[in-house]
Amino acid sequence: MKNTTQSHNRQINFLGTEEFKSEVVIEAPGRINLIGEHIDYNGGHVLPAAIDKKIKLSFRKNNSSICTIYSKNYDTSFSFRLDEVKPSDEEWQNYILGVVHFIEELKPNSVKGFECIIESMLPMGSGLSSSAALECGMATGIKELFDINLSKEQIITLSRDAEHNYVGTKCGIMDQFAVVRGAKNHLILLNCQNLNYELVKSDFDPYQLVLLNSNVSHNLASSEYNTRRQECEDALKVVNQKYPQYEYLVDVPEDIMVGFKEELPEKTYNRAIYVVQENKRTLMAANALEDELFDLFGSLLYKSHEGLTTLYEVSCNELDFMVDYSKNYDYVLGSRMMGGGFGGCTINLVDQDHVAEYIAGISKAYKEKFNTELTPIEVNISNGVSKIN
Ligand code: ADP
Ligand code: MG
Repeated sequence: MKNTTQSHNRQINFLGTEEFKSEVVIEAPGRINLIGEHIDYNGGHVLPAAIDKKIKLSFRKNNSSICTIYSKNYDTSFSFRLDEVKPSDEEWQNYILGVVHFIEELKPNSVKGFECIIESMLPMGSGLSSSAALECGMATGIKELFDINLSKEQIITLSRDAEHNYVGTKCGIMDQFAVVRGAKNHLILLNCQNLNYELVKSDFDPYQLVLLNSNVSHNLASSEYNTRRQECEDALKVVNQKYPQYEYLVDVPEDIMVGFKEELPEKTYNRAIYVVQENKRTLMAANALEDELFDLFGSLLYKSHEGLTTLYEVSCNELDFMVDYSKNYDYVLGSRMMGGGFGGCTINLVDQDHVAEYIAGISKAYKEKFNTELTPIEVNISNGVSKIN
């Protein structure tokens, strides 16, 4: 496909950040997910929350039909004409082009020329969903700048559609939902089948969430993500031959799923049983949290990781090492990989009094084993995407 965007190596003149007088400024948070991994696209329950690590997007109109976007993190900008919006060869541009395309599809001729500066404090490719933050931040900014009548639900789904069709990752709905619907000090128990949700207070006292970035970049994530999605669809198709009533894989009761062990290829069965079990774990975990049963909650995190590594096969040596290390210490109640997998972060529930000791110990062990630094990331649970100016 011919690339119709124009890249500029450096920030171009009018985006000299000093003079840039923005009309709209948006902050779009990343997200964590306590439990319920890889099940949003299987109709499952998930337990995410927005965090205080964010992408800031500053917008202004330019009274033309050309849009120019500058990413401070990449120190690169690109321009595109609104009558020639199509996928680009540069991946990061596609998050933006996709959002513009799907807003225009819903509300024709609503987007006019604009300029935008993106500045991010959110690590990319670490499982904190900088991708959804970028999409939803872009969509919210355009909505505000041109006063377009878009609901939160529309922003969530059009951002997801941008990622599917322009970037090519067949993600579920969780990331965009959490980025838009996040609420300070609350987790979101979300039913991904119908987008019904419930806020659960995120009070872990006397424990604390600790995120550790393995600093392994998840290159495989997008292609493997799509493969897992296909494997789940394959499993459901076979189940549906006997039981047509189940619309989603998570709806299949565990004992019925177990009955397909011989019938399905081993890998396909493993993916399916993981999905069914993970959905049950998520519901148990939300209840455990409400009842302040932190030990139970932590053990569910460990079980989730075990499923992700042995059955769903989306972990990697570095993440497994971090989770195994954590099991040696009673002050760590639970630990698991978080996000798409093949790198990124672990999420850990740790006794407040031992957080420093834990981080020091695991960082040293990790460095010795992999000759790579671990990065602890401090997060607080915060509100969803918002206009700050
Ligand atoms: P995650 O969502 O876990 O951070 P993804 O691989 O899904 O990982 O998304 C990361 C991609 O999002 C980056 O490779 C880049 O294309 C895009 N992206 C995120 N933040 C920015 C930014 N500040 N500037 C430009 N592109 C960004
Ligand atoms: Mg992502």
